[in-house]
Amino acid sequence: MSEKFSATLRIGDLNDYIAPSQGCVIKAENVGKTRTAPKAAQNEPVKISLKDCLACSGCITSAETVMLEKQSLDEFLSNLNKGKAVVVSLSPQSRASLAVHFGLSPLQVFRKLTTLLKSLGVKAIFDTSSSRDLTLIESCNEFIARYKEKYPADDEKSKSSLPMISSACPGWICYAEKTLGSYILPYISSVKSPQQTIGAAIKNHLCEELCIRPEEIYHVTVMPCYDKKLEAARDDFVFQVDSDGEKVTEVDSVLTTGEVLDLIQMKSVDFTTLEESPVDKLLSNVDEEGHLYGVRGSSGGYADTLFRYAAKVLFGKEIEGPLEFKTIRNADFREVTLEVDGKIVLRFALCYGFRNLRNIVTKIKSGKCEYHFLEIMACPSGCLNGGGQIKPNPGQSAKDLIQLLETSYSENVLVADPFENPRIKRLYNEWLGQPGSDIAKRYLHTEYHPVVKSISSQLQNW
Ligand code: SF4
Repeated sequence: MSEKFSATLRIGDLNDYIAPSQGCVIKAENVGKTRTAPKAAQNEPVKISLKDCLACSGCITSAETVMLEKQSLDEFLSNLNKGKAVVVSLSPQSRASLAVHFGLSPLQVFRKLTTLLKSLGVKAIFDTSSSRDLTLIESCNEFIARYKEKYPADDEKSKSSLPMISSACPGWICYAEKTLGSYILPYISSVKSPQQTIGAAIKNHLCEELCIRPEEIYHVTVMPCYDKKLEAARDDFVFQVDSDGEKVTEVDSVLTTGEVLDLIQMKSVDFTTLEESPVDKLLSNVDEEGHLYGVRGSSGGYADTLFRYAAKVLFGKEIEGPLEFKTIRNADFREVTLEVDGKIVLRFALCYGFRNLRNIVTKIKSGKCEYHFLEIMACPSGCLNGGGQIKPNPGQSAKDLIQLLETSYSENVLVADPFENPRIKRLYNEWLGQPGSDIAKRYLHTEYHPVVKSISSQLQNW
């Protein structure tokens, strides 16, 4: 069982706990209910752990009933005084949510949070736009390899390595591992999410520059959803410093944007007038003139970046300006294609929300999916709409809020090629070597595992 979180419930009305399409739903008022079950099983508590979560938005993401002890604001605050160097990595989606809430620009939010967190004892605050560039470069490299494998130059039989599916959304990964199982997993990109690549970079490389041992760093990320807490808790993202050394996690704790707002309110800070501090540039996408920079795309820009790169590397086509994504079924399912000599050679799609996601995985299973790449995100509208973001104001519709977030997200952010990012070039020069190198594979890639649901297996017997 996970040490991070556990809950106990009695075997009760299955429908209260497991909805076929929505996974595990735990409601406080239902916990402890009992219903007819074999004698031996009656009153036997069934243990569920964080690993049983399907990230279905039914319990964890609504945050109504479950406290993730090691992933809470209290835990973060208590670690400020434990002698460890606390490092915070801020997501651009969280930055946009706070910016809209306070009527500030994303850069102002970054600077003000730097003031606030450093006043509490945080050693450094970075920006996951930088590690997203690292993730994107590795993903570009992986896509080219998969495409060449699928369409070999010689007569060798192609392997079914496409569509490649993005891996940055833990809601999607949970669903794939726990509900879809082994057939889908080979399609998922092996590259870790930006949350985990920044954790890997801090604890395996930058710690040396900061002259701190990895086990002495307490690394916290600020993310738009609760599902990122599940991701950080995966065993795959724990490593041992040496043969008898203690285990180190890439990300020790995840705070949602809403929890950071709670922190601001708890400390009675007037955030709008708070002084602005210079940001830590070591691993942040801020240039020498103080401008934010990054890729297009508020859910990571995977489809956008990989499409441009593949068009250039595979077909010699440079694409300038925004890509024209065409709406297919609804605003959350859009595609972009590249034609060469009248033939579609690249077909990419953005696929957000479980409704679209289920349709596309059915096509993959039946061998009828024509896409080469899918940017899959569990939340409708993508990461700006994550369950951990600040809620709409009274009277404000979710749609209006998303619109404001989209505008703020890219406000004054210079569009930049990840391959030209000086912070990331430095990581390759000093640490990783080339994209896709053995070192990059060791630290920046991961594996997925089909999971037998432990609740189901225990309930099978009655
Ligand atoms: S799509 Fe939603 S669940 Fe997935 S990473 Fe983004 S905010 Fe989290």
